Amino acid sequence: MSKLSVKNHDRDVAGYRYVYPVISRRSGGLSIGINFNTNNACNWGCVYCQVPDLTIGAAPALDFALLAQELSEFLHDVLHGRFYERFQLAPDMRVIKDIAISGNGEPTSVKEFAKAIAVVVAQVEQANIPEPYQYVLISNGSLLHKADVQAGLQLWHQHHGQIWFKLDSVSELGRLHINHTAMGLQQQSANLLLASKLCQTWVQTCVLTLASEGQRYGLLEEQEQIAYLAFLRDMLAETSLQGVMLYALARPSLQPEAQQITSATKAQLQAFAGRIRQLGLMVQVAC
Ligand code: SF4
Repeated sequence: MSKLSVKNHDRDVAGYRYVYPVISRRSGGLSIGINFNTNNACNWGCVYCQVPDLTIGAAPALDFALLAQELSEFLHDVLHGRFYERFQLAPDMRVIKDIAISGNGEPTSVKEFAKAIAVVVAQVEQANIPEPYQYVLISNGSLLHKADVQAGLQLWHQHHGQIWFKLDSVSELGRLHINHTAMGLQQQSANLLLASKLCQTWVQTCVLTLASEGQRYGLLEEQEQIAYLAFLRDMLAETSLQGVMLYALARPSLQPEAQQITSATKAQLQAFAGRIRQLGLMVQVAC
């Protein structure tokens, strides 16, 4: 028997390939996680990433039948079985808060993403989870220009699904060093615009400083904050966003740059949140 807690993010804890439970301190209940990236591969390589043995690449081919079976079985266990007792969940946490596609890599890199979304939604709808609960896709947003990803997000939107869109820096060098992506800001900005038109979109931002080769990158730096605020202001002139989620690292990075990172304090997050709120945006802070 295992005890689930907000610190236990072991994706194998329930014994499934794709489905894993997380007690979410953010939402105050059970988050049902879905991981398409069982090979720990991502098209980015963020310096703070908490995926062990992260490699560059895409999610492997999905076994759709297994995904459906696991989700169906797991939801049945939570709603009608002894899942909560087995994992000794506190009574006030015995509620499904969200279905979160959050991978050990970028989930939209899976082939037939739209089909995967259809499988997830079909199983969840069939399970009749008591309202309110939320569909969430956590993504770096880099593949939103693909038609199949957009088709998946259209279906997500039909079920009021949200996308949490990663944006840790709006400088080319910051993105290169923090996210290890060469994808230009212009493309990422176009993808954020697309996301916001397809689904409810939250910008999700990790606030840190990365010290690398005598330079400092990340949103603890004043010039990066100024650029980020200007970026959001321009974005808001074209579209609407649900808001911004700011967070600091709850656990140490598992990447080689771990020692070069300084994570934001609660006070620093709050101060930055205040500046963003002045743009008229809602801001959630997690640390
Ligand atoms: S996008 Fe997410 S999974 Fe990919 S490297 Fe960054 S933090 Fe890790």
